[in-house]
This record gives sequence, structure tokens and C-alpha cells, in this order.
Amino acid sequence: MSIDAKIPGGQLADKWDRHKFELKLVNPANKRKYNIIVVGTGLAGGSAAASLAELGYDVKSFCIQDTPRRAHSIAAQVGINASKNYQNDGDSTWRLFYDTVKGGDFRAREANVYRLAQVSENIIDQCVAQGVPFAREYGGTLANRSFGGAQVSRTFYARGQTGQQLLLGAYSALSRQIATGKVTMYPRREMLDLVVTGNRARGIVVRNLITGEIEKHAADAVVLCTGGYGNVFFLSTNAMASNVTAAYRAHKRGAFFANPCYTQIHPTCIPVHGTYQSKLTLMSESLRNDGRVWVPKKAGDTRPPHQIPESERSYYLEEKYPSFGNLVPRDVASRNAKEQCDAGRGVGETALAVYLDFADAIKRDSRDVIAKKYGNLFEMYEKIVADNPYETPMMIYPAVHYTMGGLWVDYNLMSNLDGLFVLGEANFSDHGANRLGASALMQGLADGYFVLPYTIGGYLAGVNPGEVGTDNAAFAATAAEAGDRIQKLLSIDGKRTVDDFHRQLGQIMWDYCGMARNNAGLEKAIGMIQELRGEFWQDVTVPGSAGDFNQSLERAGRVADFLEFGELMCKDALHRQESCGGHFNEEYQTEENEALRDDENFCYVAAWEHTGDEGEPNLHKEPLVFENVKLTQRSYK
Ligand SMILES: Cc1cc2nc3c(=O)[nH]c(=O)nc-3n(C[C@H](O)[C@H](O)[C@H](O)COP(=O)(O)OP(=O)(O)OC[C@H]3O[C@@H](n4cnc5c(N)ncnc54)[C@H](O)[C@@H]3O)c2cc1C
Repeated sequence: MSIDAKIPGGQLADKWDRHKFELKLVNPANKRKYNIIVVGTGLAGGSAAASLAELGYDVKSFCIQDTPRRAHSIAAQVGINASKNYQNDGDSTWRLFYDTVKGGDFRAREANVYRLAQVSENIIDQCVAQGVPFAREYGGTLANRSFGGAQVSRTFYARGQTGQQLLLGAYSALSRQIATGKVTMYPRREMLDLVVTGNRARGIVVRNLITGEIEKHAADAVVLCTGGYGNVFFLSTNAMASNVTAAYRAHKRGAFFANPCYTQIHPTCIPVHGTYQSKLTLMSESLRNDGRVWVPKKAGDTRPPHQIPESERSYYLEEKYPSFGNLVPRDVASRNAKEQCDAGRGVGETALAVYLDFADAIKRDSRDVIAKKYGNLFEMYEKIVADNPYETPMMIYPAVHYTMGGLWVDYNLMSNLDGLFVLGEANFSDHGANRLGASALMQGLADGYFVLPYTIGGYLAGVNPGEVGTDNAAFAATAAEAGDRIQKLLSIDGKRTVDDFHRQLGQIMWDYCGMARNNAGLEKAIGMIQELRGEFWQDVTVPGSAGDFNQSLERAGRVADFLEFGELMCKDALHRQESCGGHFNEEYQTEENEALRDDENFCYVAAWEHTGDEGEPNLHKEPLVFENVKLTQRSYK
């Protein structure tokens, strides 16, 4: 099977407009004949379901939570990018495009990224029209702040609750369609499998998480918006329910998984403080607008921060990257923090932390001004750490935060399986090997509000509605397999909890496929994961039954998938003999410890095909062709 990204011809700036014109349309009167399943109600899924229903399609929307409003997107803190250039500081569609391609270390498709930059402006207008309360300047215009990897201010925000406010906007639009009957909402449903016949997605099999019933749903197209897989590391900033199951099950049914090893480790999180912690807390990147990152110059210096004089501090980001300073992109900031800690200059009890200091900003702007900007984040920090960041510098350390990899999609956001579309964090597109801050919300909403509503029509116009129903044998077979797997999990009756296995997998992933990787470590990890997976299927204990609300069972299914998927991540990392963005193979670095790409041999998207549980995954390469930007060594100096 080959892959074709279906990138339209013509000039970069004209591709999307031309493509929209060339896409076939579905007659308005015919739209109601088509049934579309949207799995996930985060920013990508919520916006997609609402927009598709608004167009006239019949939509079924599914999510794990009790309400669409609780999708993980609600956690997003401080911003969404758009090249509005309200600040008149030199922003443009081109600059946002360029920053994103460069930020992703030249491992993203030019055409997709340019389109993203183009529609970024529409997103802000759409959300303002919905009533999203973006922060405003005194005169009423929308306010902006800076984020990493950019020298302009293009990040729109609603205090530290941008995701929540945007999700409320999408949810309002969705609710309107639920009320009109165009969207049927299925909360508390977990997609367990994709139904495929003849290389075409036909529907899904879900478990009703309250009754345990296995349900079958058919559709003319299936849209996965199921978020990222950062929880493969056990400890991450993601919501507890974030998982890889829907995407991985689709992968096992034939959808290619692209660049699974590209993980984003966010530099600004509260450091790990104990073995029994289940979650890590993000301290927004926006804090690096005013906070200064430093460590003591002397290794092993255990003096409290206020006893360390200026002359004995190293503001290592400002020193090493004078142009971008503390606002270098996340991969660069994370690696530098690790480097400082590895050299013995880490602070705090574990010595796995660096300072983020607001003393200068408070002196310059006043405590009130800083409180207005970051008050809720400071409060959150104080509640967790019991330390007041207005008086003592915060301690931060990198943590798993976002996954750039995902199911492979073409320019239309369709996977290699016909009729299976993938949006938001669940697909691989747009961010390359490293995502810039405030660009995930932009991409999720671009996909849902402005890309899919056009491209799905192009697909549906060529298919007959309702061709395959749940009476097709493929539905019965897929549902039976899902049921068997559940029974198998319940029958093992071993001694170790699901969380115990998950924690051990997470440690393997963090140690060998985390912030820094090397060939020997990745090979070792693959063996360790295979062994752990064997133990899981022999010794896991899953209490309760299949026929009622059973969170242990839910988690067991997700961890079983992580135990397979983690291996694919390591294999992808091992095959990519270069460093780029978040994928840092220690064997490939510049003299200054920056990621060293190999454009001659690795300038491609790695799309993996599943070849059976015992087989090796098959690699398909989608070459990345750069016609508009020059491939260079990324520099933020
Ligand atoms: C703490 C934090 C702060 C962040 N802040 C920012 C920020 O300021 N700016 C920014 O741009 N990005 C930010 N991000 C990243 C951003 O929030 C996410 O990338 C984005 O919200 C993902 O949206 P999504 O719609 O793709 O998926 P999600 O919001 O993760 O939604 C996934 C949906 O899929 C459903 N689902 C999952 N699996 C299944 C299944 N098997 N069956 C049924 N339903 C399923 C879930 O129920 C949910 O509804 C942040 C991330 C974190 C963790």
C-alpha cells in the first residue's frame, strides 16, 4: 500500500483556496442523507461535530467523559496563536508559517503548515463571535502575549483558562446542534475498535462505560479526534483519561501511524516529588515571558536561592541564546534544563529542577501587574508546592506534555483508510518534530472548524450514503473481538494492578525514549517492553465485571494498548538515526549539543503499517519536500 499526501499543486499561498474550489461539493439537500461519526469532543472533535451538523450532515458524537465539556482540551492554559498582527510587530501568515516549520525542525509538510497559518485568523474571529472572553487591551482590542520560538506577540489568551473558554465556545455550538437533533450525543462511551471493510472505515464499536454494553455504530465516515498519547509515559501533564486506544486500534485495522517517537517534553512543569504521584502539573510557558530561568554556577550548591548572589548564578538560556533568551522553543529549553541538572547544577531536594525567578519582573512592573498576568498560576503553584513564587523562585523541570506523532493523514486529513479522518492531537500533521507553544489549540480548531468541513465533502460526494449498516458481518466480528478481549483481561486474575504495570512502562519510556535517547537504550527498552507485556497478560488483576461501571477495566484496556504502542515508539526512535526537535538521539548532536538532523536520509514522515501481532511494523516514507523554506540548522541565538 502506498501513501499519497494529495498536496495540491500551484503556489503555496494559493493551494488551499484552489483546493477548496476543486473539491467536489455535496448538494445541501443530500447532506442529511450522510451519517458521520465523530469520536472525541475536545477542541478538534467539538468544533468538527458542530460544524458538520451546521452544514446539514447527521452526526453522532462520542466521548469518554460524562459531558463533552470535560475533554482534556479544557486543561489548556495560556493561549492560541494567530497571525493577526494586532501588535504591529511584524507578524504575518508567512512568519507564522516559517516559525512553525522551523520550530518543528523542518519535519512538517509545508502545505499543511501554510494552510494552518492562513486559517489561524479565522479561528479568532469565529471564537470572538461565539463570545469567548479573550483578554483585551484598555482600548478594547484583543491582547497578545509572546510564546516560545517566536519573536512576535501572537498568542491570544483568556487568563490561564484559554482551553476552557475555547471549549465552552465549541460546546455551545455543539449544544445548539444537539438541540436541533442534528447531533446525537453519546457520552460515557469508549471506542474500542474501528470497523473496516475493503480498506474503508464503516463505523466503530464502543463500550457503554455505565452499563458495559458493547454497541455498534455505522457511518459513511468516521472522524477520530481522540487526543494525544503522552500518558504512555504514565507521568505526564495530560488528563488521566488521555489514551492511545482509538488511534492504536485503528492502526491495527490498517491505518498508518506516523512519527510515533516525536514527543514534546515541556520545560516548565512542577518537578516530580514522589513515587506514588499520578500526574504532573504544567506551569504555563507564558511564565517565561517574565520569569528568568537560572541555576547556581557551582555544581552541588545547596544554598537557598536568596543566598546565592547574582554573580554566582547562571541564566543559562539568556547567556546561550541572546535573541530568544528564556523564550526558546520547548525542546531547546527542556534539553538545556536536563543538561544543567546532569552537570550537577540542579536545585531542590532531588536536584532535578531549575529556578524560574520573577524577582526582576516584580521589581520592574510591580507585584500587582505580575499577579494580574499570572495570578492563578502562582496560586496553583503555591497550593501544590507550599511555596510562594512572589517571594521564592519557582522550581521547574521538564515533563511529558504533547505528542506530535499520530495517525498519518493526507492534506484532506484523511488517513490511508478511506473514510477515516483524523483531527487535532490525534493526527501527526503540522508540528513536525516539535510543536511551538499555543499551536495545538490553533491546529485542533483549524482542523475542526475550517479544514474538515470542506475536505469531508470532497470524500462524501463520491460515496453512496448508508452503504454498509451494523448488520454487516464485520460489525459482529469486531464487536465479538472487543468482548473477548475484555473477558480475557478479567479472567487473568493475577497479582499486579494495572497502575503498577503502567508505572513501570512509563519509567522505561522516560529512561530510554524520553528527553534523550540512544541506540543501546532503545534496543534495551524494546526488550523490556516485550517482557513487561508478557507479564501483564499473565499477572494483571482487573477487579469487577464487564457488565457495569468499571474503571479498572477501562484502564486495563488502555494500558494493554500502551504496552504495544510503546514498542512502536521505540522502534520509530531507533530507526531515525538523526536528532530533530523532540527526538534527541545523543549520538547525533552539534558541538553545542543541539539536535543534528540528517536531511539527506531522514527528511521524511515515517508512517508505520501494522503487520500483525507477531510481525515487524512496515515503514512507509512520505518525503518532505521544501520548496519555499531553506533547510537550515535551527538557531535561536
Ligand atoms: C496542561 C496542558 C496545558 C495546555 N495548554 C495549551 C495551550 O495553552 N495552548 C495550546 O495550544 N495547547 C495547549 N495544550 C495542548 C492542548 O490542550 C491539546 O493538544 C489539545 O487540547 C488536544 O485537543 P484534541 O481535541 O485533539 O483532544 P482532547 O482535548 O484530548 O480530546 C480528546 C477527546 O477524545 C475522547 N476520547 C479519547 N479516547 C476515546 C475513545 N477511545 N473513545 C471515545 N472517546 C475518546 C475524549 O473523551 C475527549 O473528548 C495543553 C496541554 C496540557 C496538558
